[in-house]
Amino acid sequence: MSIHFTLMPTLTTPPRPAWIEIDLAQLRRNLKIIRDDMPSNLRWCSVVKDNAYGHGAVAIARETLAAGASYLAVATVEEGTQLRAADIQAPILVFGERTEEELEHCLAQRFVCFVNDEAQAQRLDRLARKHAQSVAVHVEVDTGLSRHGVRWSNAVAHVSALAAYPNLALAGIMTHFAMSDELDKTFANEQLRRFHEVLHELSARGIHVPLRHTCNSGGYLDLPHAHFEMVRMGILPLGVYPSQVCRRILGLAPIMQVKARIAVLQHIEAGDHVGYGMRYTAESPRKIAVLPLGYGDGYPRVRNAGQVLIHGKHAPIVGGNAMDAMMVDVTEIPNVQQWEEVVILGEQAGEVISIHDLAKLGGTVSYDVMTKLSIRLPRTYLARLLE
Ligand SMILES: *Cc1c(COP(=O)(O)O)cnc(C)c1O
Repeated sequence: MSIHFTLMPTLTTPPRPAWIEIDLAQLRRNLKIIRDDMPSNLRWCSVVKDNAYGHGAVAIARETLAAGASYLAVATVEEGTQLRAADIQAPILVFGERTEEELEHCLAQRFVCFVNDEAQAQRLDRLARKHAQSVAVHVEVDTGLSRHGVRWSNAVAHVSALAAYPNLALAGIMTHFAMSDELDKTFANEQLRRFHEVLHELSARGIHVPLRHTCNSGGYLDLPHAHFEMVRMGILPLGVYPSQVCRRILGLAPIMQVKARIAVLQHIEAGDHVGYGMRYTAESPRKIAVLPLGYGDGYPRVRNAGQVLIHGKHAPIVGGNAMDAMMVDVTEIPNVQQWEEVVILGEQAGEVISIHDLAKLGGTVSYDVMTKLSIRLPRTYLARLLE
């Protein structure tokens, strides 16, 4: 069964002829494959920030929890609130730092926050006391990314000081790698050494933090000596590898496809131009298909670069793509019809356009392309959604 789902309230409007398909059956296969690959006692946190990288946070959270994830993670309070509003009760980690106002919401919704400095410990402890609660917190140790967290050289003092706050319960300690999915693991191992040093010092002081976690998808795949009790995975269950060089797991496949229907077929003559800025000039009569999606939908802004799949064949983009449309040359593909289905990202008759192809086109990474696919592209879920 296929369910049409859009984030815009459009009960009466017909589906747009440009859309995203999310294959939940393939997601379930990916989750089974990853579970089988994982050491049996390893827990995992399903990272569903930024609308699960554009795939739909609630749908992905439900599936990953059903497959055994023990935590969810998001990057903003709004993202966590959306999950709670969908009646998801699992522990939710909120990455990064929180303002005092945000802390109130985090308490009310039982989000697990990070306490990476003394001032935050004071604020959260005071709030927790006001509500007569004990709150579980995690500490992020910055071992070299220089982003969130307490610097490793100050971490032992900071964590030791947390014991003085009666309403805070230190449940977890983590770090995040700057480079886990490249071939060179030198810096990842140096970060890990710094993390171990902190843990060792803490343990010498009698402090044992129950949940230690350092790995993202790249770390899960390539740094098995860094798994600890839990790993945090966002991209891998979606069937996309964090890099081109990390370990592969047989059978994983992307669950997202982007498709559109041909809106117009144009016959142009030699010397005619295509698109803004006249970036393409036909050298012979050409047949051009106009697709009703553009850079406003998150497709990289391109000029005479990139391809789509029609009848299982590659059709090159000609001219520059616009906000709402792009033109492809279908001269060499016989019998192309108006309103026929085109694959922008995904597979057709054995041919593939991957997220890495689109990333290369945009001079960026797969994460960036996925999260930029616009909310105005309706998401259609193949297979039944979990309630
Ligand atoms: C986004 C994020 C992850 C997940 O990374 P993937 O590469 O998608 O698995 C894990 N940990 C932190 C702190 C993150 O910000």
